[in-house]
Order: sequence, then structure tokens, then C-alpha cells
Amino acid sequence: MQDYKFFSEVNQAFDKASAYTRFDKGLLEQMKACNDVLHITFPLEKDDGSIEVIHGYRVEHSHHKLPTKGGIRYSLTVNEDETMALAALMTYKCAVVDVPFGGAKGGVRIDRRNYSDAELERLTRRYAFQLSKKNFIGPGSDVPAPDYGTSSREMGWILDTYRQINSDIDAEGCVTGKPLNQGGIRGRTEATGRGVFFGIKEACSNAEDMKLLGLEKGIEGKTFVVQGLGNVGYHSALYMIEAGAKMIGVAEMDGSIYNENGIDLKELMEYKKEKGGIVGFEGIKTLPDNKAVLEVDCDILIPAALENQLNEKNAERIKAKIIGEAANGPTTSKAHEIIKDRGALIIPDNYLNAGGVTVSYFEWLKNIQHMRFGRMGKRFEENSFKKILLVIETISDRKFTDKELEFLAQGGGEKELVDSGLEETMVLAYNEINELRKVHGVDLRTAAFISAINKVGSMYEGMGIFP
Ligand code: NAD
Repeated sequence: MQDYKFFSEVNQAFDKASAYTRFDKGLLEQMKACNDVLHITFPLEKDDGSIEVIHGYRVEHSHHKLPTKGGIRYSLTVNEDETMALAALMTYKCAVVDVPFGGAKGGVRIDRRNYSDAELERLTRRYAFQLSKKNFIGPGSDVPAPDYGTSSREMGWILDTYRQINSDIDAEGCVTGKPLNQGGIRGRTEATGRGVFFGIKEACSNAEDMKLLGLEKGIEGKTFVVQGLGNVGYHSALYMIEAGAKMIGVAEMDGSIYNENGIDLKELMEYKKEKGGIVGFEGIKTLPDNKAVLEVDCDILIPAALENQLNEKNAERIKAKIIGEAANGPTTSKAHEIIKDRGALIIPDNYLNAGGVTVSYFEWLKNIQHMRFGRMGKRFEENSFKKILLVIETISDRKFTDKELEFLAQGGGEKELVDSGLEETMVLAYNEINELRKVHGVDLRTAAFISAINKVGSMYEGMGIFP
């Protein structure tokens, strides 16, 4: 019998929140259960001609809404328990931000650094083929996306494989996070980090909440530490810095670095690209190991690597006043209690990293409507704005320069609309869960679960469980 540790951590948080909802035990049990669990093995022919058996997983946690949605992870941590937990988190996350999908997750148990590009392509295509054969992928059934260890490149391979075996007019919608020239959407690559930024910004804009933490309102001037400078960590850090926050510490696989005066993100990324790590970055202090920087004094800690990073072993020493959970499951339930009891604000993963799935939803809509956002309205908006500016010119002495006209009359293109939709989603959802937090006197994670359970539960009630 497999030991379901991460999945049971998610369920513990669910159980705690369910006490504040009106649903009976049976329905709550149904909401927690994983509807479909797939474990496949398949052979990979390595470049040297040898054969390796690869383990792949896909879990569809909840079919209360279709398609189901969730990333594909390439990591040695991948197993049934992890995939079930992450799929369940996806269900709750989608509900919190009103993205109309059920939750799913997939993964392949490999350390991607040990495989050539050609091997990764063969492996990805074979995994996608298996998913398709078993009906675990499709624009109306289950739609993967990138996660830890995968990127738009892998999503492009998955789409191409799916297309070869399915003549489906909506095929492009079978996967999101694709390259732009294969039906992707502007803003998806940076979406999760951008959403993390919008979520932290919204939390920091609440003067009352910040006062309780002994902090000033706003992001500007706040210090932060980020763990994991991959897609999510890098983009979270980028937007935090653009808004005036100071990055004083970074943790990566090879170690952690710290500088109270701030670390230059652009230069660090160049160094990381060249050296394959961050240790030794010029003029910046290297700490004893890659966990040490999580414990330094800072306003905001952003774990953006993997689960189980803030745990019983280090929770007592975590000093950050705000934990922004960019990764999935970075804080164990015991660590959560310790950090919360110290008075810190934990902005939970099932809300904070929902930017990725939100923009994936926009991408999927673009694919099934077969048209880019802004195509119909952008010029119309621009012409309307120009007419208004013209009237302003005629009733006042003000003459606009061509540059001003261009700036003021700008219509919404795909990039602007995606960004606006993402910010709207993150802001609305934050205020919804912060309100529930105050009404019930609970923490934000419990509040996010209450919000999710209420939404999923009322869906079940509405449709009748047994068709
Ligand atoms: P990624 O592979 O792009 O980056 C992960 C980074 O973490 C890498 O740079 C890696 O070297 C580093 N890392 C790994 N172990 C570490 C450790 N012990 N200490 C410090 N650094 C370490 O992955 P990603 O897509 O950025 O995903 C990161 C997290 O965000 C995961 O938990 C993932 O599930 C979650 N997430 C990702 C998305 C998305 O759109 N990519 C969406 C929602 C949630």
C-alpha cells in the first residue's frame, strides 16, 4: 500500500476548511477523491542504443468541470502520491480563481539533466501518445501545461503528437503553454510569476493587514528572498523588483547567496546561464548550503522550487513576515502552523500560483475560438479613443502630439488583455479569500479551501451526483 503523504497533507487542509462549509460528509469525500489515476511505463531508446523503462503518471482529480487541467512535471520526485496531491490542488486552485476546469496533473519520473534533447523529445512524444491512447488528453477532456522541468518546447511536441493521431478541429486546445507560433498566447510564459506578483501586491496594499505584520503598505522598499530561479521564481522576482522591492537572497540547487544591499537579477541570470548555478556570483556572499538563505531576515520569502521546503526542520528559524507560496506545496502542514503562530502571513499556493492556469484558460479559449484576443476590437477601440481626444481638442486649447495620441488612444491587444484579465482574476480572488479569512477567523490557506469547497460543492449539488 503506497504511503500517500503529500496527498494526505492536501486532504488535511481540505478537512480543516470543510468544517466551515455546509456540505455533508459523503459529498466532501467525493470532492477529495481522485476520479482517474493513470500510471504507465514505456521504453525509451537512449542515444547509445540502450533501453530505459520510463514511469509516467496522469491524474484527473475532479470531473465536476471539464476539461481537467494541470501541468506536466519532469522530476525524480514524481510518483503517484505527488501527482494525486498536485491534481487535487489544481481543482481547488481553479475554483478559487473561477477558472472553469477540474484539476489534473501529470509527470514523468526523470532528472531531465541526464537526457539529451533528442531523448527528451522521444520520451515526451511517447508519453503524449500514451495519454492520447488512454483518453487522458484532449481539448474537451484533459489539457496539460508546463510545470517543473518542462516548458513551451515540450508542449509543442505534445501538440504535434496529439495532432498526428487525432483529427480534431480544436486540437490546438489539447495543451497550453505552447510556443506562440503553435497556438500559444502572449503572456503565458511569465503568467505564474506575474500572478505571484499581483497576489503579493494585493496583499501588501491592505494597510490594516500590513500594520499587523509591522510593515508599511505597498511593495516598494520591501526585501525578499526567492528559492528557485526557474520560470516561476525568475518572473516573480522580476516583477517584484520592477515594483521597487529589493531581492536580498536567492537559493538554487547548487547553493544560496545573500546581499543585504540587493542582488542584480539580470546579471545573476547571465551568470547562472553561463555557470549552471549561482554560487560564486561576484561580490555576493555564499551561504553554507541551499537552505540557509530561507532563514535570513526579510519581509517576503518566495519559495518557487518544489514542495516540502519549509518543514518541521527549519520552520522555527524562518523569519520572513510574508510567505508567498509560488511553488506547489512548499510548506508542510506542521511548518504552516509554526510559521502562522509566529504571526506571519502565508499567501497559499492554491491561490498565489494560479496565474499560470488562469492564462492557460485564456490560451485554451483562444484555441477553441480560433481567434486571437483583441483582433476584433483593438482598432475599433483606438478609433473611438481618437474621436474622444479630437472632441477634447476642439473644446479646449489642448493639442495632443502624435506620441500622446498614440499612447492615449491605444486599444487592447492580446498582451494587454491577458495581463488585464490576469490582474483582475488575482485581485478579485485575493479579496474574496481575505474576506473569508476575516469572517471565519481562519488563515488564508483555510479561507482559500473554504472558497474552493463552496464552489465545487455547489457545482455537484447543481448537477446531481449520479447521472
Ligand atoms: P522550473 O523547472 O522552471 O524551475 C525550478 C527551479 O528550482 C530550477 O531553477 C531549479 O534548479 C530550482 N530548484 C530545484 N530544487 C531546488 C532547491 N532544493 N533549492 C533551490 N532551488 C531549487 O519550474 P517552475 O515551472 O518554475 O516551477 C516551480 C514551482 O512552481 C513548482 O512547484 C511548480 O509546480 C510550481 N508551478 C509552476 C507553474 C508554471 O506555470 N510553470 C504554475 C503553477 C505552479
